[in-house]
Amino acid sequence: MSTMKRGNTVDFATVRAKVPLTWFFEHMLGASEPTLRSQGTLRYNVCPNPDCGLASKASTKCSVSRDRWNCFACGKKGDVVEAAMHHWGTSLKDAALRLIGADEEVLCSYKAPVAPPKVDRDDAVLHKVIAQLVDAQRDVATGAIEYLASRGIDPKLTREAVRRKLLVTLPEDPEACKEHLLGVCGRDALATAGLWRHDAKAPAAAFRPLMFVSYGMTSVEFRLMRKPKPGDIKSLRYGAIAPFVWINECQDRVMIVEGAIDLLSALQMGTKRSLIGVPGCENWREEWFTKLAGRDVLDGLDGDGPGVQASEKLRPVLEGKGAKYHRYLHPHGAVDLNDELMLRRQNRH
Ligand SMILES: [Zn+2]
Repeated sequence: MSTMKRGNTVDFATVRAKVPLTWFFEHMLGASEPTLRSQGTLRYNVCPNPDCGLASKASTKCSVSRDRWNCFACGKKGDVVEAAMHHWGTSLKDAALRLIGADEEVLCSYKAPVAPPKVDRDDAVLHKVIAQLVDAQRDVATGAIEYLASRGIDPKLTREAVRRKLLVTLPEDPEACKEHLLGVCGRDALATAGLWRHDAKAPAAAFRPLMFVSYGMTSVEFRLMRKPKPGDIKSLRYGAIAPFVWINECQDRVMIVEGAIDLLSALQMGTKRSLIGVPGCENWREEWFTKLAGRDVLDGLDGDGPGVQASEKLRPVLEGKGAKYHRYLHPHGAVDLNDELMLRRQNRH
């Protein structure tokens, strides 16, 4: 240990080199594995800040790239020493000393997960690819209608979502979907748009045939058309973060919801409010809400821990823009709007 310590100080660079950050996440914070591996970064559902802690398996709130972590839920970030400091509630120096004491053998046998390489994406090409896929929409796929019906969404609403270019239904069979993507956009454009990794046999989107398109067609989300199995990544997003939007009968009354399925669920339950679907409860930008001054805004983010936490941040932003804020109260047994829709359907039968 004497080589690590210089007098009374600890060499943090030595600690960083010895203790991989992902090891700390997986062995100390109890994350079993990354919940998402995307280009150049890994995501975990746990945060070193004990007040933020472990979220559901679907959460990807904390990113780890190389030796830095960054939590999108609480805003804390740092290196492995700062992670240990938060987790153990010690000083930075004590955290470093404790990390240096970590078992060599355990560290040696640790295999760190790897993030796929970062590629240079071109957003202009992505926008073109999105527009081409929207234009290439023909008949609404039966599989999509059936899948969304299983989530409580009527075929009529699914067709309307397609007509409004919120939804594109791609071929359900991965091979046919790959051919469709290739035929419509071409391989080079798919690669430059970031949709096709150079080492992959097919674009990941080919396995996720429900394509939800953001307002302004600047970003896109591809979703599985079935219940995800453990370890499955249910949806992939490409492009800058942007909201899903549905202009409805009422424009002076607005509801904010989490994601496209909840947006459709709110419509299915009969809301007349216009809808803004944020891609994730922590994924929104203040500037999306500038036009909400004087309007009645219902916050329909999820009723679980992360949703409630995100609401606490959203409320002052909306009120700051002059909106009349209300929080939607999910009924007992429903965490989100789709849960509620499904509950209503069950109770009817
Ligand atoms: Zn956090």
